[in-house]
Amino acid sequence: MSEKINILGTTRAELTEFFEAQGGSQFHAAAVMDCLYKKNIQNLSDVEGLSEKRMAPLLENFQISPLTVVKVQGSEDTTRKYLFQLHDGRYVESVLIPASVAPDGSRSERMTVCVSSQVGCAYGCMFCASGLDGLTRNLSSAEIIGQLSAIKEHSGKNITNVVFMGMGEPLANFKNLNKALDIIIGQWGLAIAPRQVTVSTSGLAPMIKKLADREEQVSLAISLHGADNATRNKIMPVNSKWQIDELFEALQYFKENNHNQRITLEYILIKGVNDSIEQAEMLAERAKNLGGFVNVIPYNTVEGLEWERPSDEHCYTFRDTIKNLGVMTTMRIEKGHDIDAACGQLRLKEMKKDAETV
Ligand code: SF4
Repeated sequence: MSEKINILGTTRAELTEFFEAQGGSQFHAAAVMDCLYKKNIQNLSDVEGLSEKRMAPLLENFQISPLTVVKVQGSEDTTRKYLFQLHDGRYVESVLIPASVAPDGSRSERMTVCVSSQVGCAYGCMFCASGLDGLTRNLSSAEIIGQLSAIKEHSGKNITNVVFMGMGEPLANFKNLNKALDIIIGQWGLAIAPRQVTVSTSGLAPMIKKLADREEQVSLAISLHGADNATRNKIMPVNSKWQIDELFEALQYFKENNHNQRITLEYILIKGVNDSIEQAEMLAERAKNLGGFVNVIPYNTVEGLEWERPSDEHCYTFRDTIKNLGVMTTMRIEKGHDIDAACGQLRLKEMKKDAETV
């Protein structure tokens, strides 16, 4: 008998086709989707509302293959980092980030999950631990959705926002990303508002245009980290392939096709590398022309890399320079700093441990 399909990566259209081929209808597919994504069942035999005649072929062809939780760091009210093991023994990680508490003590219901899209990464951004070992493989759409399902099950939380900022370059795994987005956004799926779903990319210009052509749009974040080619080249090797003008041309296309979606320019601030006031001014001009936001992130030390974080005072000066030029700017306080939340760090530690015990 052929291997069963992990149903977590299956869309409503695919499942409808399956039931119709068995003499069933879209209503049978809808019943299954409801159990999978609204009730978050972890075993396919827990599907409710189907007759034995419909259940039998479903169980014969599909299964739910949940990801194995290997480690959880963090506590109930803080950022929680999950390390998962996949069916082939590889590791990926995801982070659950609750909304921060406002000064008046109130807390919004926002619950964000940062997901991975690949095992490892081929893009080698210089600040990132995920790229250190190169790319191993793409995650399937089932493995992407599996991260959300496992976190929901483990934490009991309702996920309101999803960001593709974990391990991997999501736009380099476009087919599976696209399918996962359909499931995340679909009313029949996880039903998360498109604006609350963000794809982050190192800057794959042609794929940004492809993402812009999707019917249902999502927000976009760009790992920019340099406002001209000379500076960006030092941090982002991808810039040698798609240089900054080509990147911004693709961003303009995205903006024109997605009037309501947000474009954020992420800028990790590294002492003596990209933190000059001249860079801040160039960055502000680019952001202004695009109508984008800037998110300044003081550098988070990565084991094995030599870069340093600028002084707090300099970080504020850099941020204020952009703000004063009329661009909406935030400076992110790295919530996961104390639990190795920079992408790839937990996974690398686990892999080293495995290697030591072999
Ligand atoms: S930042 Fe993202 S694209 Fe760059 S190496 Fe890390 S995982 Fe890959």
